[in-house]
Amino acid sequence: MTNSTATRLQENLPDLQSYWMPFTGNRYFKDHPRMITGASGMYCRTHDGRQLLDAVAGLWCCNAGHCHPKIVEAIQKQAAELDYSMAFQLGHPRAFELANKLTDMAPDGIDYAFFVNSGSEAVDTALKMALAYHRLRGEGQRTRLIGRERGYHGVGFGGISVGGISPNRKMFGALLPGVDHLPHTHDLEHNAFSRGLPQWGAHLADELERIVALHDASTIAAVIVEPIAGSAGVLLPPEGYLERVREICDRHGILLIFDEVICAFGRTGDAFAAGRFGVLPDLITTAKGLTSGTVPMGAVLAKGEIYDTFMTGPEGAIEFFHGYTYSGHPLAAAAGCATLDVYRSEGLFERARALEGTLEDALHSLQDEPNVIDVRNFGLIGAVELTPIDGQPTARAMRIFRECYDNGLIIRTTGDTLAFSPPLIIDEKQIAHMVDTVRKSLRAQR
Ligand code: PLP
Repeated sequence: MTNSTATRLQENLPDLQSYWMPFTGNRYFKDHPRMITGASGMYCRTHDGRQLLDAVAGLWCCNAGHCHPKIVEAIQKQAAELDYSMAFQLGHPRAFELANKLTDMAPDGIDYAFFVNSGSEAVDTALKMALAYHRLRGEGQRTRLIGRERGYHGVGFGGISVGGISPNRKMFGALLPGVDHLPHTHDLEHNAFSRGLPQWGAHLADELERIVALHDASTIAAVIVEPIAGSAGVLLPPEGYLERVREICDRHGILLIFDEVICAFGRTGDAFAAGRFGVLPDLITTAKGLTSGTVPMGAVLAKGEIYDTFMTGPEGAIEFFHGYTYSGHPLAAAAGCATLDVYRSEGLFERARALEGTLEDALHSLQDEPNVIDVRNFGLIGAVELTPIDGQPTARAMRIFRECYDNGLIIRTTGDTLAFSPPLIIDEKQIAHMVDTVRKSLRAQR
């Protein structure tokens, strides 16, 4: 038995050796484990018996709060009734039911749902749909994909190719060919401490015209952007920016994909950011909040015209050579149906909308705290950006993360930004508590 195994056993933890953790400093974690052993509503419990307020809804996913009884019950019932049925050439009712609920909730014009198991798979699926769509229409030369700097679209090869976060790309050699990137829209010189959407920066969408001029529209299949980028530090679209991207795509026959893996299901105070911003993309990628984080699932939502384009081959032939063993998995579909019902019956999107002003005021009260260089927010999303420590990017935010954890709060950090995306069931007192804990942690680490 190693020393560390002995210590873990004393702490009532398993041996931590074998698990290679994702996006985690494994060695640091295994020396300083922070283990979550239970959760309910707004709170998580730790292995050492503490209760933490969850200010990030797990990882931007538990929008209905943790272990919602109706979602738990639906999953339990489904597990006892139908564990799995073949995803290809056979179906089961729950997946169809979920597709109907989902497209009912989506903006008008979005009529089809293709199920996957994660946001990364949703992105790669949407990119493949875009390429195949053009090919089916006789424009197979449209193979370029345009992403955006600092965009995060998961970790598949498609997603990292159109994504714009350098550490996620640089270790993996040649990525997809023919990809270009729009500039990101984050500019503290013009937009620091904006409340809601920043006023400056809509013109950055015009860079798409420059990219079109360079490559020629006839070579470009799709543009993919997050309406609000989460993983690269909560980057908000300047007022009018998404509208301009849409106009330029329309002008040149380019499909527009909104990656709503974090924005959908109430995060912006609407079912979809597309609805909140009044901009209709051709494809929407979702995951996370679709099942409130309970069972892995994602979906690509498509306009009718895209689906119809695929439905033209010989009767009985497969139209789209793509799918996953677990596409529309019964447990995920049951969890999704129950989750969408909870969102509606509890009015959680409206609740998020009603609380956004409270969150905005609370977060902006941190403006003068040590090392704060920006506060930004929209819907139930917020961010506090900190001055990096010289020569140690990300270290300051990580210290605040650890300090908050010790003070009973789970936040998320990306770079030197603290990100907030609480479950939509959060109340005003919990928002105040969350921000007071961050304030205390910022002062402790001044
Ligand atoms: N796209 C966006 C916008 C995301 O924020 C994420 C995850 O945070 C993903 C895709 C990837 O989702 P997953 O981790 O479920 O693969």
